[in-house]
Amino acid sequence: MVNSFTPPEDVGFVGLGNMGAPMARRLAAAGYTLFVADTNPAAVSRFAADTHCRQAADLVSLGAACRAVITMLPDGHSVREVVLGNNGLTTDMQSGAVVIDMSSSAPGGTRELGAMLSRQNIELVDAPVSGGVLRAKDGKLSIMTGGTAAAVDRCRPILNVMGRVYPTGGPGTGHAMKAINNYLSAASLASAAEGIIAGTRFGLAPATMIDILNSSSGRSYSTEYKYPDFILPGTFDTGFALGLMAKDVRMALELAQREGSSHALLQAVSDLWSRAEQKLGPRADHTEVVKYLQTLAGETAND
Ligand code: NAD
Repeated sequence: MVNSFTPPEDVGFVGLGNMGAPMARRLAAAGYTLFVADTNPAAVSRFAADTHCRQAADLVSLGAACRAVITMLPDGHSVREVVLGNNGLTTDMQSGAVVIDMSSSAPGGTRELGAMLSRQNIELVDAPVSGGVLRAKDGKLSIMTGGTAAAVDRCRPILNVMGRVYPTGGPGTGHAMKAINNYLSAASLASAAEGIIAGTRFGLAPATMIDILNSSSGRSYSTEYKYPDFILPGTFDTGFALGLMAKDVRMALELAQREGSSHALLQAVSDLWSRAEQKLGPRADHTEVVKYLQTLAGETAND
């Protein structure tokens, strides 16, 4: 493969949060030379305490030093600010370099950003992930990659360290796929919660309902994994924030609106998650949407 990014290639990594830190740790363990940045100094020092890396003084020097830079940031707005902002990543970036956006960004914005970068002869590959913090640690993420086949192929050795690559087509298609996936995930969690809350009020035990759903046709990732591991034990600590999930569903809604496709259910799911975000705050764990729905059920009962 011509010019593919194999160890010990210098790889930039911007965004060492819940997902970024374990993903970057895998790259360091695979022999890549990491050059890291995050606006939160505590995130950088936590990461550097147990992982060999260089800490970037600024984004300009990080961008200039690396032919491949990964962004793992909250959304497409922060990605654009990091990549194109004043003293951003691409200020002195080498011609032929690749920015790999692994954040869950809006697909339309990704297409625009890719077109802007191509004028500087810089490629953008969108490579959002599914699987959460545990699969990030294990290197078993699903990675949905949009971009030219040549650019995706150059990035494969890097991406393979973090999970399984699923090429989705041209620029932005990975981000579109991710938004659609998270819409389904958000809808299934909210619908499971509404069913379980109603059943509980009727006298069924939540654990019994989960057991039965998981051997019946109503099962989903939410009933098989999120309920038993995070909701029934009351830990609510998946490491995926409610505000990020609400943002993902809004992106899926925007996608359907932009494409003129049916979105009545998407609209309802998006409204529900946005209201939960307003009530509980964006930093609540996304599984706490169950608490929000329980509150609604309580309010209705007391009316
Ligand atoms: P996070 O909030 O834990 O981490 C984001 C990191 O980016 C933080 O450390 C923050 O300080 C840093 N940051 C924010 N703006 C920055 C900027 N301008 N410059 C440099 N650093 C900046 O979020 P996360 O849970 O790691 O999620 C990251 C992305 O991955 C999001 O798009 C999210 O939707 C997606 N995602 C998350 C999960 C999950 O389970 N947490 C799973 C799949 C996808």
